Amino acid sequence: MKNQDVNDQLPDIDEALGFATQSIRGGSFRSDMREHSEALYLTSSFVYDSAAQAQAVFAGDEPGNVYSRYTNPSVQMFEERMAILEAGGMEDIIGCATSSGMAAILGSCMALLKSGDHVICSRNVFGTTFTIFAKYFEKFGVKTTFVDLTNYQQWQEAMTPETRLLFLETPSNPLSDVADIQRLADIAHNTYNKSALLMVDNCFCTPALQKPLLFGADLIIHSATKYIDGQGRCLGGMVVGRKELVNEVHLWQRAAGATLSAFNAWVLFKGLETLSIRMEGHCRNATALAKWLDEHPAVDKVHYSGLSSHRGHELAKKQQSAFGGVLAFEVKGGRASAWKVIDSVTIMSRTANLGDTRTTITHPATTTHCRLTDDDKQRSGITEGLVRVAVGLEDIEDLKRDIDKGLQQLR
Ligand SMILES: *Cc1c(COP(=O)(O)O)cnc(C)c1O
Repeated sequence: MKNQDVNDQLPDIDEALGFATQSIRGGSFRSDMREHSEALYLTSSFVYDSAAQAQAVFAGDEPGNVYSRYTNPSVQMFEERMAILEAGGMEDIIGCATSSGMAAILGSCMALLKSGDHVICSRNVFGTTFTIFAKYFEKFGVKTTFVDLTNYQQWQEAMTPETRLLFLETPSNPLSDVADIQRLADIAHNTYNKSALLMVDNCFCTPALQKPLLFGADLIIHSATKYIDGQGRCLGGMVVGRKELVNEVHLWQRAAGATLSAFNAWVLFKGLETLSIRMEGHCRNATALAKWLDEHPAVDKVHYSGLSSHRGHELAKKQQSAFGGVLAFEVKGGRASAWKVIDSVTIMSRTANLGDTRTTITHPATTTHCRLTDDDKQRSGITEGLVRVAVGLEDIEDLKRDIDKGLQQLR
């Protein structure tokens, strides 16, 4: 169901417009109040001029809003803008906003999978994503096989005639492993009945750095909580893909109610206006910090795909326009040393969140990845000496000094 006013007042977004222009102007519309900055439509329901009009809108014969669990103009602006940014010029791409990143994964799976279907998921996805596939979908008869992100033979061999979905995150958290989206799309689309979908969690790159639909992915999911907001204020999620797929997700959302609030949509939508320039800043700071750490005598190894020594560097150059804001490094002396570095910072925030203007620092083995078995930690490269930094937008020299305080104690 589309809002008449939305369609009427949407400017024609020229596909040749640059990314920054689209992230500031795309999907925007004005009400009769002629506001310059987009309005926040804080209303649960909408009114009609007559009983006949109500009937027409409810029946879908006339465009309009009914209720904010179905559609809300602030939420629609956010969906429209995200779809424009991810589509990269492709046609018939739409978005469906959700209350969180997890609700985006849940919603797309509930809408598109059924009991008996099979899923293949990369092992090192976000922890809660692993849980939802391994524990909850399993209960409803959807089985998941977990594979190593960059082992394409494992992906291919895990395919069965029942496989309906391949799910991955690239680059991976926290080691920046990079998966070849096009290659996985080929596996999904050319094995057995050719009906498997490729879903990419594009949270770490955002469309500013990577547009998986252009490499053959069918669906993108986002935790908008991270770089889309960019300032650590609220939760939100988004599903983007071809109209016929995402329409199904909209229908699920209407029924299930994991709706994004108008307020959060407005915050996230405003966040998009600075996405381009923020991502540039995150990447610049992360690259500088990675290079500095790489030369630091107290650091054993740096994991950042922007370093030419990283195993994913060449693929990242092909698939991404820059290398992102998250890096990890290893120090000698295991947990005690890693904790010393983390406990010595006075600027960075000790928290597992990411995608914030404020730099965050965490110990993956005891926080984000604490539920992995020792075997799985070893297999995924989550060592006790590993520290993850989600690099923010502070002055780079301050960030170096902040980490150096702890590193100096290790020498
Ligand atoms: C945070 C995160 C999620 C989950 O998003 P929420 O908004 O917290 O529900 C999913 N994937 C990745 C990569 C994340 O970082």
